[in-house]
Amino acid sequence: MQKIKDLFKKTWFLGCLVIIFATSVLWNIPIEKRKYGLSESSLVTDYTGLLPERVVRVVKAADRQELQKIAKQANESGQRISVAGLQHSQGGHTYYKDGVVLDMRTYNRILEINELQKTVRVEAGATWEDVQDAILPYGLALKVTQSQSIFTIGGSLSVNGHGRDIRFGPMAGTVKEMTLLTPTGEIKRLTSRGDSEEWMKYVLGGYGLFGVILDVTLELTDNDIYTIHTEKLKTEEYESYFNNLMKDDNAAMHYARVSVAPSSFLDEMYVIDYNHTGKQDRSTSLKGEQGVRLSKLALDLGRHGGGMEDLFWRAQKKYIASIDKKEITRNNAMRSESTFMEFTKPGRVEVLQEYFVPVHSYEEYIKDLKKLLSADDKNDDFKVHNITVRYAAKDNLTSLNYAKEDMLGLVVLIQHGLKEKEIAEATAIIRDWTDLTLKYDGTYYLPYYRYQTKEQFKASYPDWEKFRTEKLKRDSNEVFQNLFYDHYIK
Ligand SMILES: Cc1cc2nc3c(=O)[nH]c(=O)nc-3n(C[C@H](O)[C@H](O)[C@H](O)COP(=O)(O)OP(=O)(O)OC[C@H]3O[C@@H](n4cnc5c(N)ncnc54)[C@H](O)[C@@H]3O)c2cc1C
Repeated sequence: MQKIKDLFKKTWFLGCLVIIFATSVLWNIPIEKRKYGLSESSLVTDYTGLLPERVVRVVKAADRQELQKIAKQANESGQRISVAGLQHSQGGHTYYKDGVVLDMRTYNRILEINELQKTVRVEAGATWEDVQDAILPYGLALKVTQSQSIFTIGGSLSVNGHGRDIRFGPMAGTVKEMTLLTPTGEIKRLTSRGDSEEWMKYVLGGYGLFGVILDVTLELTDNDIYTIHTEKLKTEEYESYFNNLMKDDNAAMHYARVSVAPSSFLDEMYVIDYNHTGKQDRSTSLKGEQGVRLSKLALDLGRHGGGMEDLFWRAQKKYIASIDKKEITRNNAMRSESTFMEFTKPGRVEVLQEYFVPVHSYEEYIKDLKKLLSADDKNDDFKVHNITVRYAAKDNLTSLNYAKEDMLGLVVLIQHGLKEKEIAEATAIIRDWTDLTLKYDGTYYLPYYRYQTKEQFKASYPDWEKFRTEKLKRDSNEVFQNLFYDHYIK
């Protein structure tokens, strides 16, 4: 007994105990997995599960003739069709009451890689990860993707996603050719240059309402090696920092984070830039999900708000400082971790919202935003966990375009309760936030849950009526439907 007591007096022994305890805590953090998606026997949902609905049939897409037959029959019989990729959209964009859902995930072959022309032809149900896997040995990389590589090509192009690249413009602009199954069951081969009927303008960023993207030829670029530059800034310094960055040809990619911790709420930011080194890569493998448990532990702490959120912000700053000057390939900069974000607490939901404001309005906008949100949401039901800032270049290519000029997008991770009162409160805050964004000539992103009113939608997307006219012209029997269309456009 005395021996054990003596052991407990030794620092090395206590150190070992702490390490064993910390490791076992870390190891036992459960990695959650949201339950969502397609099922014929019960209700269909998407990533948030907020809009459960019954569908009549889910068809796993396998060959284009079968898809063509389904579209033709639907056009004659009045059946509704929706198109689903990985269903990370959050407002019922991928299904419709009593409709047929085309599950595109099985339509996912890489068809051709042209090393010389730097292009890849791929079926629309493939994910960015599938494409990265295939093009890596050729020293090639994507021009534009979201910050993660977990989404399908069809789903990403249908929302016209954006990410960290600051040079290549909208994702829609990277499509060279496309095979489209139209609502009347025709199969059309479209090229970006010869698209005189303007199909691409409506299909890209068209939320699956103008037909099924079967395959696309995407422009690629080199798998450059970048050095990472990180820096802490005051929010009021960001606009000029960003404008200088855009003038610097060396800068290829960039994003930033704004503090949502009480002691530096919307005052502090850090920036992460990816700068050219002049080197390229063909051999570095694609990185997998790293440090999931640790990142999850940190985010879970932040989820408590108050002092814990300050701690989380400090931990993020430490991590960001630690990657300064490190090298990374373009492919790896385009595949950030996502598993640690999973959240499955009963009675609560985590959703994304994104607001875009013109670059020159950023500073004033954030000042006003500070008056709208509570700096410490520890005791509030509506909690803001994270705000990431991205650049979205002016988009002349799509009809429902969120970037009417060069914009900064604030991607916001929000948590709220699921009781009627809690949803109503979240809706009210998000609507106020949207009004503030509109005041600065901004917009909000459409793939997420539709808290906004129809008036806010119309003000954000003034071209919506033309979008509807074109929809009815090209799909007069309204074969392609989803809950998003029903809510905002119909
Ligand atoms: C954690 C998370 C992070 C995100 N990060 C970003 C980001 O960094 N940048 C960004 O821009 N967005 C981001 N998003 C939004 C995301 O890009 C969109 O939700 C995107 O649509 C996801 O692709 P998906 O395969 O899940 O598409 P789905 O949600 O399945 O589909 C989206 C839309 O595309 C249509 N569609 C799908 N496949 C086809 C097809 N083959 N032909 C025609 N229409 C089709 C669907 O009908 C639907 O309207 C994020 C979302 C989440 C949940």
